[in-house]
Amino acid sequence: MTSVTAPAARDTVLAARGIVKRFGALTVLHGIDLSLTSGEVVAIIGPSGSGKSTFIRCMNMLEVPDAGEISFRGRRVVPRFRAAGETLGLGELRRHVGMVFQHFNLFPHMSVLENVIEGPVTVQRKPRAEAVDIAMDYIAKVGLAEKRDARPDQLSGGQKQRVAIARALAMQPDALLLDEITSALDPELVGEVLGVVRNLAEQGMTMVLVTHEISFAADVSDRVVFMEAGRIAEEGSPDRILHNPDNERLKTFLARFH
Ligand code: ADP
Ligand code: MG
Repeated sequence: MTSVTAPAARDTVLAARGIVKRFGALTVLHGIDLSLTSGEVVAIIGPSGSGKSTFIRCMNMLEVPDAGEISFRGRRVVPRFRAAGETLGLGELRRHVGMVFQHFNLFPHMSVLENVIEGPVTVQRKPRAEAVDIAMDYIAKVGLAEKRDARPDQLSGGQKQRVAIARALAMQPDALLLDEITSALDPELVGEVLGVVRNLAEQGMTMVLVTHEISFAADVSDRVVFMEAGRIAEEGSPDRILHNPDNERLKTFLARFH
């Protein structure tokens, strides 16, 4: 049935196969498989310590897996900055796959605009004027045009996180990985950040989001993955995973949110 599988394979942006990760004697990931199709939004849920962050970090090789492989548009990623041919190096992977973290990781001494043009100027070697144009586009998209000259310490947590999203978008990535990006925010600031993510989903951005916002995950994602103790315990449509789960641990996990 290659005629059926070939188009789907071509459309795969980022894929993880058999990912195993150990920290010393502790095996944190026991062989994770996850493929991300162009335009797809996958939400990863699961208890604290189940390996969600380790896995999403493996997807852009911030953690190098002990076994298994990551591929980007069919090219296997190798843990070296540069690579060629059938393989892809970390430099190129990071240009195509953006990541946003729980704790923003903005450069504290730089303005909003300087934070957002940093990648395009230093990594992509774009002329500054062009980088500023692109950056202002995304800064406006996340609703912070009037804050372009502010420093991070002059912003709320929600605004900082929106800058972090704009910074990732300014690299014009093929996919975005979001690791609990609302977990460090005061509850009243969560909505503005989720609103930005929702817009991205509607515009067709390919994304993996690790989140504790279960109803948001159900709402914006095409597929929900439940991780438990370093394994994918169940995955499926948001509706089935959240309303008709098979896995006992998933049922217990979801009961906490009702
Ligand atoms: P989650 O994001 O689901 O809360 P993590 O991926 O952060 O889970 O952690 C999974 C397990 O791996 C936990 O037991 C955690 O303590 C351990 N772990 C994560 N990072 C490291 C590290 N750098 N060194 C040692 N253990 C780690
Ligand atoms: Mg985590």
